[in-house]
Amino acid sequence: MTTPHTIQAEYDLIFAGGGTAACLTAGRLATAFPNLSILIMPKWISKDGRRSDIPHNYIYNNSSKELFVCDGTLVNRVIVEDGSPHSCREIVVVGAGTLGSPLILERSGLGKKDVLEKAGVAVVAEIPGVGENYQNHASLYAPYIADPELRNMNNLFRGDPETWSQAHKDYIDGGIKMRPHPEELPEQPLIWASAVAGSLGDLSSLPNLNFISSVAFLGYPASRGRLHISTSDPLAAPDFEPGFLSNPADVAALRWAYKKGREINRRLPSFRGVFFPGHPQFPEVSAAAVEETTPVPLDAPKIVWSAEDDKAIDVFLRQVVGTSWHSAGTCAMKPFNKGGVVDSKLNIYSVKKLKIVDIYPALEHRLQNTYSTAIAVGEKAALIIAEELGGSV
Ligand SMILES: Cc1cc2nc3c(=O)[nH]c(=O)nc-3n(C[C@H](O)[C@H](O)[C@H](O)COP(=O)(O)OP(=O)(O)OC[C@H]3O[C@@H](n4cnc5c(N)ncnc54)[C@H](O)[C@@H]3O)c2cc1C
Repeated sequence: MTTPHTIQAEYDLIFAGGGTAACLTAGRLATAFPNLSILIMPKWISKDGRRSDIPHNYIYNNSSKELFVCDGTLVNRVIVEDGSPHSCREIVVVGAGTLGSPLILERSGLGKKDVLEKAGVAVVAEIPGVGENYQNHASLYAPYIADPELRNMNNLFRGDPETWSQAHKDYIDGGIKMRPHPEELPEQPLIWASAVAGSLGDLSSLPNLNFISSVAFLGYPASRGRLHISTSDPLAAPDFEPGFLSNPADVAALRWAYKKGREINRRLPSFRGVFFPGHPQFPEVSAAAVEETTPVPLDAPKIVWSAEDDKAIDVFLRQVVGTSWHSAGTCAMKPFNKGGVVDSKLNIYSVKKLKIVDIYPALEHRLQNTYSTAIAVGEKAALIIAEELGGSV
């Protein structure tokens, strides 16, 4: 492995960008094909950014002399000539993640015609699905007042170094997948939920109380957003519309999650009240507006929610809905005429020898860690490319 590295004229494989999935693929191929020259540009991080990721296990420790790493390189575009990438003997792989890969494709002239024309980029091949279909496990967070004696993680969220080192020793991150009763709904869990011993919000704006909070990630988001270039400048801000809650099904699911979180939290031994400024603004007469300062028994009657309460929750959801950092879908693997960008062998439609390796679901987001999905995609990509190169990993 050679780094730092000046880019030469030609390689057998080029990884333009290099996220979790792409680094894994490149590392596997470098080990399996030691004579294959591979260039990877694994990280582009802003000056003050920090990130730890898979390269340390697949790239930086790789002994291949033909694996070249060009760290800190911002990929502008892939030059496509006569239907395939320029300056690469075998395959160019775009691997810059959900928020990077579609932008590289669009700057390369591969994308939706009107997006490219608006950005001043010449159309090389029209692929309407590029940058569409953006998905995320949209998240909800609600704070509750906790027993002052409860050991919490607020110092962790404040970035205190001592708490961080302690956290590596004995903190546990736990969550559950939840779904309504079978008679209420579906065959699959609706929500990933977690009770956090602390507040995930802006701590500086909160009073000096102890907090616990409930967090819910939407399991199977129905909403879709989009991510496109706004100009041909790789440093320009993109045109990004995450589309959170644009489908009413997602509002209904998170509304259910809010209610469920509230019922769970008011039964916890550490519960000392709802922190109302961080909750929906319920009408005064609402059962949900009643102040409670101690936990209720496990078998206490559930809150009876009115239609007005539901409206207040829906307003609240639109104010607080956030990312779970699980972006996916902007280069979907689907048939071309259904908005697909890559085929089942990861080939970008309309261009030869150009693939994408990063996380994108086949059809829709699943309720799972996207990091694990990226690793699975990386492994599968290594198998596909190795086969095309006439070998195996
Ligand atoms: C704060 C945070 C917390 C997360 N927590 C979890 C978690 O707890 N569990 C979980 O499963 N997942 C988590 N994820 C998501 C997970 O990290 C991603 O789903 C996964 O890493 C995606 O892998 P990827 O291969 O698609 O791309 P990524 O690993 O995202 O890599 C893309 C890379 O391409 C680079 N890049 C982009 N554009 C360019 C360009 N033009 N030129 C060069 N490089 C470029 C980026 O800088 C990045 O290094 C988290 C993500 C974030 C941001």
